[in-house]
Amino acid sequence: MARTRKTLEVDTRHIYKPEITQCPHCGAPLGAQRHYQWRKTVQHLDQVVYIASQGKTCGNPQCRHHGQVYSAAAAQMETLPGCTYGLDVIVQVGWWREPEHLNRQQIHGRLQARRVQLSEREVDHLYPHYQVLRACAERLDTQRLETLVGERGGLIISLDGLAPEGATEQLWVVREVQSEVVLVVGWLARVNHETLAALLQPVVDLKLPILATLSAKEGCVQKALTTVWPDVPHQWCQAHYLGNALKPLYARDSALKTELRQQIRAAVRDSLGEVLSDSVESVFSPSVGGRAGGI
Ligand SMILES: [Zn+2]
Repeated sequence: MARTRKTLEVDTRHIYKPEITQCPHCGAPLGAQRHYQWRKTVQHLDQVVYIASQGKTCGNPQCRHHGQVYSAAAAQMETLPGCTYGLDVIVQVGWWREPEHLNRQQIHGRLQARRVQLSEREVDHLYPHYQVLRACAERLDTQRLETLVGERGGLIISLDGLAPEGATEQLWVVREVQSEVVLVVGWLARVNHETLAALLQPVVDLKLPILATLSAKEGCVQKALTTVWPDVPHQWCQAHYLGNALKPLYARDSALKTELRQQIRAAVRDSLGEVLSDSVESVFSPSVGGRAGGI
């Protein structure tokens, strides 16, 4: 059945809070803001999620950075600003469009097969999102980051990756969490602490102070971050992003199981009906000899 965006049913609701719980400057516990920084409904390849990002601030009036808002890195990895499709959808479209050379119609068909609600025309809007994401790797806005350091005392860096379905490489994203700026993006054929450290190198070369690093709980990711910035505190993020790569496979597997079950049911419905009616007859008809012949 064709569905419109108005019929989106939310599968999960997630309120993200900053991974950092203490002010990186004075050590005071951060307090949650009463309002959300942003909230929206996002379509992923496998589900529709209502996401809200709740910021936290340092409540210590003596702190030089009192009142400055800290955000959740994990929320920023769900989607891109101005977009209501998940980053997994955007990157998947990029993979299908570029290395696989699928056209708009084919990509639309594949997304529809995963129950992503969008028109063919909207596929054309998703690809530029991917291109913008990739373009970030080519222009590191040093001046903006220096200004940010002046205001916030340093950068908070997150590192996270995504493995699109059918892809032989993973897309890794380095982000400055306070400003939500994507710093570096790269496809990696091999993911280990060395290739990840190489990806981080342009950020290291900025020689700007780093307040903290954030990543999913992957050994090589933490090793890359602590190798590059050994003295910077590291904090785990919610490991939702790489995990997303597995969800479409799981969802497809579940869909196949449902389809298979329906096919089997349809195929055996008539004979099952006959068997059932025979069984009923055999139980209730003394002429068949009661249950002696039952299984
Ligand atoms: Zn503080």
